[in-house]
Amino acid sequence: MGIEDTNRREMLIGMGAGLVALKTGTASAQADPARKLGYAIVGLGSYATRQIMPQFANCKHSRLVALVSGTPEKLARYGAEYGIPARNRYSYASFDTIRDNPEIDIVYVVLPNSLHAEYVVRAAQAGKHVMCEKPMATSVAEARTMIGACRKAKRLLMIGYRSRFEPYNRLAIELARSGHVGPTRIITAEHGFDAKPGQWRLDRPLSGGGSLMDIGIYSLNAARYLAGEEPVQVSAIESTDRTDPRFRTVEDRIDFMLRFPSGVIANCVSSYSSNHNGYRVIGTKGYIDMEPATPYEGQRMMIRKDGQTTPRVLASTGPNQFVGQLDHLSECVKTGRTPIVPGEEGLADMRVIEAIYRAAREGRTVTLDAA
Ligand code: NAD
Repeated sequence: MGIEDTNRREMLIGMGAGLVALKTGTASAQADPARKLGYAIVGLGSYATRQIMPQFANCKHSRLVALVSGTPEKLARYGAEYGIPARNRYSYASFDTIRDNPEIDIVYVVLPNSLHAEYVVRAAQAGKHVMCEKPMATSVAEARTMIGACRKAKRLLMIGYRSRFEPYNRLAIELARSGHVGPTRIITAEHGFDAKPGQWRLDRPLSGGGSLMDIGIYSLNAARYLAGEEPVQVSAIESTDRTDPRFRTVEDRIDFMLRFPSGVIANCVSSYSSNHNGYRVIGTKGYIDMEPATPYEGQRMMIRKDGQTTPRVLASTGPNQFVGQLDHLSECVKTGRTPIVPGEEGLADMRVIEAIYRAAREGRTVTLDAA
């Protein structure tokens, strides 16, 4: 089974789980399948301007048509750089008038975490499809509100889980789930970096939490996509030096363990004071190792099987993860299909994140109910 088959299969799994593909293709998108759908980017910070916006030049189905920012200088600068006319440059106050702009099909929310819910809901109410950065929200309740608002407006909601469009991660999913190194027994996943002081990530009202919300979510999401099932038990230990001025309101390190229904155990690290980016899927015959696993580029895979350790290099990888992500939502809008990482995928992570925090706080194993 190839990577494309994995993609199709995941889409079917998603639909089988009760996600009925909404007939949400906009009239203009359906009228002209060759038209590139127009994205409005909300929040012109580091990720939006350095990683996402330059990638529209490589997209087949998507183009950048509008910008939303609270800083007029940024609107002028990026507007000029990307040829966005003044009529398509919005402030947060004028944001809701995007409803009158037929050039905008999709709104991409790239704001600090606690602002995601508000802008996703406002985008849906303006009749636009929505891409929202991870973490989807700062709570399960917010995530449900966002999903509800998009459903009510009959608009698609997708979460920016770019690794699901990254060729090596897709291969890892395929190899893990097909038992390439035998049935999976253990997954380890580690993500962390040394957080610089003075940023919104360290301010709970804006971030909703510490390393887990921001970087540990990659360990969690990988454990879930590699296992292909939802955890039923969670335990966790938090280690935070509260005398470190960076960690007055958010956690530094949180180590968590997930148990899946099949018996697979995931041991995960989330840290704001040490540098890691990797995961390993360990089966009965060996392991699949990804290190680094989820950077913007440069993924490396090693496979150990039957006593031999060899690098796995893909001959051709196709569009990069950013292009794959942007074009996937455009294609879903055109065809009315459900994205492979819909709002429900963000909600699934939020449920486990809340359980991890609870397990750490209460010092006990938390059981998760069926979703
Ligand atoms: P950033 O600080 O570089 O950008 C945030 C932007 O939000 C800035 O332009 C800022 O001006 C604007 N903003 C609007 N209202 C604000 C407020 N009240 N307080 C602070 N800033 C405000 O952050 P970033 O790294 O671009 O992160 C933005 C989002 O993207 C986050 O949700 C983050 O988790 C996500 N992200 C995802 C990835 C990924 O690989 N998928 C990588 C980086 C960031």
